[in-house]
Amino acid sequence: MLIFQPMSDELYSVRMHAERAGAHLCGAERLVSADRIEETAAVLVRRALVHPRGCAEGLRLAVDRVDPASVVRGRLPAVTTLQVSDFSTGRALAAELLAKAGVSSAAAVFAIHCLARGAAPDGRSMRGAMLVGATSGRRLEPDAARGVRVTRMDLSPQAEERLRADLAACGLDRPQVREALVLAAKVLAAPGVVAELCWSDDPDYTTGYVASADLGYVRLTELKPAGDERGGRVFFVDEARVDLAALIAFLEHQVFLADAVGAVYPPREPR
Ligand code: AMP
Repeated sequence: MLIFQPMSDELYSVRMHAERAGAHLCGAERLVSADRIEETAAVLVRRALVHPRGCAEGLRLAVDRVDPASVVRGRLPAVTTLQVSDFSTGRALAAELLAKAGVSSAAAVFAIHCLARGAAPDGRSMRGAMLVGATSGRRLEPDAARGVRVTRMDLSPQAEERLRADLAACGLDRPQVREALVLAAKVLAAPGVVAELCWSDDPDYTTGYVASADLGYVRLTELKPAGDERGGRVFFVDEARVDLAALIAFLEHQVFLADAVGAVYPPREPR
């Protein structure tokens, strides 16, 4: 059945969301040209079927045409990887980096504490991100369980090719790394965001990052103990100038395409 009769220069948002045992299992999305809709949908479906936490029991796929004039284009931040010996050292270094980015010590300590104990009200990971005042440390997201979900972002094919080659040279070319980098690029382009902190909810993945316009995207190899299922994201905002509704609308709906890449530096010890 032919569903779309697209024009070749148009972009489509292809999004997948899968569930297992009544809970969210995984989600992923791409922005692609018309001729890549089918193969992209197949790749996203496959991802839900071979997920490390089990095969999806249900999934939803959405395809929407994007108005090319509405797309915001941007650049990926430079990638640095700092090899730390344990998660306490990683968290202390994350707090130092956040201070350099303009986040108060109280806000950084509070955010790290929230992610460590599970930032949702039930002590589990949130589906989306916390919004935290960079000075006051106050939580500002309207829903503390769901958080704010960043969607509708991707890399242009040229930027993806370049990024993959640069990441591969450092042994880092994995979908999770590419996707987190694109998400961080969109977050740093959002109005009123000062910095971001993230570590994964995947129990086997202990690496996380701090990102800001000046620092770029700084990966820290240990930000949580192996086996811990709690993770999350915190977007620190400048309370004096942020318009929360506009920020959330940008993060959740604005289509963002990274069409330029930053440098990727080989992993090193912190100085
Ligand atoms: P992940 O890096 O996919 O393991 O995600 C780590 C945490 O980041 C999750 O537990 C969520 O709290 C948050 N998160 C994941 N995806 C998004 C997203 N698209 N927007 C905002 N926060 C997210």
